[in-house]
Amino acid sequence: MLLEKKKILIMGIRNKWSIAWGVAKSAQENGAELIFTYSPMEKQEKIEEFIKEIPNAKAYPCDVAEDSSIQECLEKIKNTHGKIDGILHSIAHANTEDLRNDFIFTTRSGFAHASDISAYSLIAISRIAQQIQLLKENASIVALTYYGSEKSVEGYNIMGVAKAALESSIQYLAKDLGKAGIRINAISAGPIKTLSAKGIKDFGSILDIVEKRAPLHRNVTTKEVGDTASFLFSYMASAITGEVIHVDNGFSTVGV
Ligand code: NAP
Repeated sequence: MLLEKKKILIMGIRNKWSIAWGVAKSAQENGAELIFTYSPMEKQEKIEEFIKEIPNAKAYPCDVAEDSSIQECLEKIKNTHGKIDGILHSIAHANTEDLRNDFIFTTRSGFAHASDISAYSLIAISRIAQQIQLLKENASIVALTYYGSEKSVEGYNIMGVAKAALESSIQYLAKDLGKAGIRINAISAGPIKTLSAKGIKDFGSILDIVEKRAPLHRNVTTKEVGDTASFLFSYMASAITGEVIHVDNGFSTVGV
């Protein structure tokens, strides 16, 4: 199996609609041992209840807004599970008003918040993981991004700017992590109905447009995103780093 004997840390699980859950299911099917982190805003019992499906899975709280929380959480994971083979970063947040108003009204604090949680957190996680030697050589980090970084998408606003920062960070992180043989890539997933996506104004019409215009005329599933993540975690992607791979039924390739 593709991920046999690999330990993968899944960061950003909220419920069964989360993209992180699709990645977890695919990685499990491919033989990986899974460790989860969740936002401390969530109830531990709720998370533990639904990850029961994954044998021996453990979940740890981690607030990516705080370096101290990331440090404490990753150290706990290293002490309990030893070195790991991969990290999924499936985390983003923006203030609701910054997604509802026109982009021009984005506040200074809203800009800082969305960039901090959705982009800077990847840098902090990568750095701390390296400092405590959590990652094995040949490990792979995968983050989630969206087309709204490349083109303006109605209602995506500050998240688009944060995702552009995330994608650029991936190229710089690839250079630094590459010195230790570690790869880092992003998946640009097509729109998926998750709790976070509900925050985007008129999200339903984005799904309709993809169905109409994408070459494959349908929306993607979390399982399809998960399968691409499994590939990126595996030796089959051993020469891929610093990339953004679109898993969007071809939507981003279509012009007029
Ligand atoms: P989701 O299920 O709501 O997952 C988002 C996760 O981010 C939640 O678990 C949330 O925790 C977590 N988070 C927010 N702030 C955090 C913090 N300070 N510390 C730790 N965790 C925090 O939504 P999703 O759609 O699967 O999103 C996952 C990733 O995919 C995001 O990066 C998103 O931008 C990206 N993406 C989504 C789509 C889409 O259409 N859905 C498309 C492309 C890319 P809480 O439980 O506390 O909220």
